[in-house]
Amino acid sequence: MSATVDATQVAQEFADIFGTSPDGVWSAPGRVNLIGEHTDYNEGFVLPFAIDRAAAVAIKLREDNTARLRSSHGEQTTVTVDLSTLSHDTMQGWTAYPLGVVWVLRQLGVAIGGFDLYLHSTVPSGAGLSSSAAIECAVATAFNELANASLSRSELVLVGQRAENEVVGAPTGILDQSASLLATDGHAVFLDCRTQESELVPLDLAAAGLLILVVDTKVSHAHATGGYSARRASCELGAEVFGVPALRDISAADLPEASGLLDTETFRRVRHIVTENQRVLDTVAVLADGGPGAIGALLTASHASMRDDFEISCPELDLAVDTALANGALGARMTGGGFGGSAIALIPAAVEATVRDAISQAFADSGFTVPDIFAVSPAPGARKIL
Ligand code: ADP
Ligand code: MG
Repeated sequence: MSATVDATQVAQEFADIFGTSPDGVWSAPGRVNLIGEHTDYNEGFVLPFAIDRAAAVAIKLREDNTARLRSSHGEQTTVTVDLSTLSHDTMQGWTAYPLGVVWVLRQLGVAIGGFDLYLHSTVPSGAGLSSSAAIECAVATAFNELANASLSRSELVLVGQRAENEVVGAPTGILDQSASLLATDGHAVFLDCRTQESELVPLDLAAAGLLILVVDTKVSHAHATGGYSARRASCELGAEVFGVPALRDISAADLPEASGLLDTETFRRVRHIVTENQRVLDTVAVLADGGPGAIGALLTASHASMRDDFEISCPELDLAVDTALANGALGARMTGGGFGGSAIALIPAAVEATVRDAISQAFADSGFTVPDIFAVSPAPGARKIL
């Protein structure tokens, strides 16, 4: 699968399926979270960047109230839905993402009638690179324009989040949609998840002779809902015991007191969030002072915290991180919600082949599934591409 989306080809495939040209093609990227994991729903800080892999949607409005949806991925069948009966029961499977966005926009009073939609995504699904938000953000950007809704990008972030929370039923924060909608080329998005304020932070890897490798372990995180909910519950408990609205309000200086108030497991969960928030702030400061070559230790410390305190890593992710570090990576960590998905390694471009080979070999030696290893670069956010 080619990493870059070819807008003309997507439009052509739409025409082949629906027999007419689309009104336009919109794309929105997946993301890598450079650092700041599980801090989003604790109203803390995150630092994702959009990657050069995206979901593209070609859409044509219809005169009636019917939606027809098709994806290039999976079963080659067209799903047809009567929008006058749009409900949680009729938004099933992958169509819950695009239809969920339409449902939320309609709740907000945006007039959307029938449409034909074709999706082609180069973001691997379930790899922790947010293929789901890429779909939501592409669809939200498209209908914002097609329906002249004039919603701001920050408002579209919340539309995508509501679709994911209320329709798909995944209790996620605003990290993924913010990265997909707010990013620009060559920058990471420093996001305060409490205020939704964001700042673009230069992340010019190429100029520093660096690149970021993604190691998709192919370990599905689909079963992770229970683990994710349990982590959220621990965080809520920690905040409640401390009498603060969210763990964002606890600092490293409060940790000794926290250890006396909380059971040991909850304490370790809290310690991850508190130290991770600080690591995000430190990464932003270090990027400004020393550039991307100086953030490696923070990435690796983040991984250790997720492995030991938050306990959301897995043997495959640990092996990818350890092997990358042993072969010249400046820093490495799992990225995304955990329990599988992908790890990232910040490496000098010169050692790319060495690191790739070493990880492939280590996975083979351990009898793990062959991982998918690819470089990503900071890319622009959601936009119309045709
Ligand atoms: P992630 O966002 O980390 O990739 P999620 O579980 O949040 O993982 O989202 C994956 C889901 O998104 C898939 O189960 C599928 O429903 C949907 N999806 C992703 N990519 C595609 C695609 N190309 N076509 C159809 N559905 C997709
Ligand atoms: Mg997702």
